[in-house]
Amino acid sequence: MGKPHTIRIAGSDVQFAVEPGETVLDAALRLGLPAPYGCKTGHCGACRAQLVEGSVHYKAPPQALSERERDAGLTLLCEAQPDSDATFDVQLLAADGHLRARNLPARINSRTQLAHDVWQLELQVPKAKPFDFLPGQYIDFLLPDGGRRSFSLAAPPNDDNVLQLQLRKVPGGSFVQHVVDELDDCAVLRIQGPLGGFFMREAPQRPAVFIAGGTGFAPIRAILLSELAAGQSKPLHLYWGVRARRDLYDAELAESWAREHANVQFTPVLSDPEPDDNWNGRTGFVHQVAAEDFPDCSELDVYVSGPPVLVDAAKRDLGKQGLRPARTFYDAFEYAHVTWPALASDD
Ligand SMILES: Cc1cc2nc3c(=O)[nH]c(=O)nc-3n(C[C@H](O)[C@H](O)[C@H](O)COP(=O)(O)OP(=O)(O)OC[C@H]3O[C@@H](n4cnc5c(N)ncnc54)[C@H](O)[C@@H]3O)c2cc1C
Repeated sequence: MGKPHTIRIAGSDVQFAVEPGETVLDAALRLGLPAPYGCKTGHCGACRAQLVEGSVHYKAPPQALSERERDAGLTLLCEAQPDSDATFDVQLLAADGHLRARNLPARINSRTQLAHDVWQLELQVPKAKPFDFLPGQYIDFLLPDGGRRSFSLAAPPNDDNVLQLQLRKVPGGSFVQHVVDELDDCAVLRIQGPLGGFFMREAPQRPAVFIAGGTGFAPIRAILLSELAAGQSKPLHLYWGVRARRDLYDAELAESWAREHANVQFTPVLSDPEPDDNWNGRTGFVHQVAAEDFPDCSELDVYVSGPPVLVDAAKRDLGKQGLRPARTFYDAFEYAHVTWPALASDD
């Protein structure tokens, strides 16, 4: 039988023991440490952390890490089991644990159609306790059959505990269609959150580039609303890729950021403009447009959210142009057929 190993969090005095057979994330959560996480199955990458010292092993190679990320020392805490004492560089969510995920009822406040296939959903969660989260994080809907659906929070936390989401209705999809077309006004759903590790890192000296695909705009919207309200002044460049002009469902907001803040640039990119769009803007794949504009990505922080294929392509292509894995943050909008873990009990 092995012995426990001591894990340290770089730049802090946090340290804790991981029992033999336990993952680093399970040990951290068991002790109430606010480590970022999402699916807990190695798929979403929310619990990525830089291994600074020591070594770990996995039962199976974690899907969310590319070879390049593994070579750069990135690990997935939800799957990693230490082979030795180890030190990780990971940003804990909050010192006091108040960002721990909770299960809550959420009542539908409103449903507003934003585009032909996108709806804004507003949810009211109980006001007894503030529902706090980091802009960029997401929630899971907990379905009666044990399934889950993940959706990003599209606006920063607020005093009213109202959550905003932007839901795309996918062909053949069951959940969004049910929410949009079938549920009564005021219906109550169960959610779990906040989840995920997609949030703005402090790096005052480096410009940040945001690459959104489709409703991947939602978490970036929350981040930028929050950063701009806080007076963020470093260069922020938003690329938003969709098929045609009608899919730019929140373009006015993004344009207003660029108009009102000298440090913000907004580049909408259409992959498949309609003839009626009379589009004179950029076209093609959104990550390639960003790559054209930043031939040297070595001094950038890049945030990507949207379809997994976009996230993978952005990591690969911008990586070839010097983007460092440790400065790449992403939320891959995996479909719900990915196996999610059993539900945690209510608190
Ligand atoms: C961390 C995270 C955050 C997310 N945030 C958002 C968000 O803010 N807004 C949003 O709209 N989505 C978001 N998603 C994606 C969303 O959770 C999935 O698309 C979900 O499966 C949709 O549920 P559904 O029941 O409507 O469709 P499902 O019943 O799950 O899907 C039915 C069929 O459609 C396919 N399918 C599902 N989703 C897609 C898709 N996006 N594109 C193409 N085919 C698809 C499936 O493979 C399946 O065959 C997020 C996902 C993750 C992991």
